[in-house]
Amino acid sequence: MAFLGNLRKLLSFLNDGIENPEIIKFLKKRGLKDGPISSYEDFCSIKPLTKFELSHMQQQNPPFAGLVDMEIVSKVYLSPGPIFNSKVAEFSHYRFYKALSKADFNKNDIVFNAFSYNMSPAGDMFDEAAGYLGAAVIPAGPSDSRKAAEIIEKTGATAFTGTRTFLFNILKHLGDKSRLKKAYLIAEKMTEKDRELFASKYGVQAYQGYGTAEVGLIATECSEKHMHPDIDIFLEVLEPGNFQPVDLGETGEAVITLMNGKLPFIRLATGDLTIAENQECGCGSDEGFIKGIFGRSDSSVKVKGIFVHYWQFQDFLEENGINGKLVVETTGNKDVLKMISNFESEGNLKQDFHKKFGLKLESIEMDKNLEENGIIDNRDRLKQS
Ligand SMILES: [Zn+2]
Repeated sequence: MAFLGNLRKLLSFLNDGIENPEIIKFLKKRGLKDGPISSYEDFCSIKPLTKFELSHMQQQNPPFAGLVDMEIVSKVYLSPGPIFNSKVAEFSHYRFYKALSKADFNKNDIVFNAFSYNMSPAGDMFDEAAGYLGAAVIPAGPSDSRKAAEIIEKTGATAFTGTRTFLFNILKHLGDKSRLKKAYLIAEKMTEKDRELFASKYGVQAYQGYGTAEVGLIATECSEKHMHPDIDIFLEVLEPGNFQPVDLGETGEAVITLMNGKLPFIRLATGDLTIAENQECGCGSDEGFIKGIFGRSDSSVKVKGIFVHYWQFQDFLEENGINGKLVVETTGNKDVLKMISNFESEGNLKQDFHKKFGLKLESIEMDKNLEENGIIDNRDRLKQS
């Protein structure tokens, strides 16, 4: 069975650590047995919660389905899905300061934070993390890469938080006028080839991690570049759909428990595909690690940091009375979205798509015989750069 994390800590959390009685009631409804929880099998009686279910529960009882005490919520965010995200405490909820610390961010850094501050928790996650370590933050958010390069040059920024593609684009503009020395990347896979290029061509040491809008930090790279789960996380790898445990070394869906008694994220199915290994690591950790994130279990795609979930795309097609396939490709160093559809007239499809997803549909091709809907990810990261 593939799970990573401290089982003893998990069991103690389940028995004594859940502070909100509504969460306990909810877990009982989802199969949690009465009496002490004493094994991984007991824990597995809880049915994993998909983001689809979470979104529906929230719509029925907004904003947090009655599972988060509003008195302790300091911020409310909205992710595509739609899913409302609560922030319940500085630092201890998102915990990314631990990840930035491993990537050697410190009080001497000026951090250019390219994650969005606008209704998305990502900007805040890295802002508070850099602040915790005493670094100065440039709260930039997403912008044009040329403009970002200009700000980095003028401010003498030394560190970057954002996505891999955006960092590449900025560095191309910067050339040798940069003082950037380190970067922390999430939301998009950085290959080892990418990492080498960042270091050799641009002098930037890049680390990557894995996290979500609900729980914050899940796993981050150590000195050996292995992604170890954070100590507050219990990470299972389960077969998508039936949620049976897969073996170590096999691909499955990351299902996360955040051991925070104020939050209901117990067996939250992320939809992200991963592989767990439990070999000892050169960094001294014997807790195991994940080998990265290998796509989405439900064929949803993440484009420019925004998820397009399959069910949302399905809704979009139904609203317009058409069938369609959404194709994501890489052109140059940019992700481009195309749609193939059996529409009769293009009408306002592009505008409607942008309105629903906040993403640009580059082109629509007609295929009168198209019957099957789907999302196709044709991006090949290795061909880039
Ligand atoms: Zn390690």
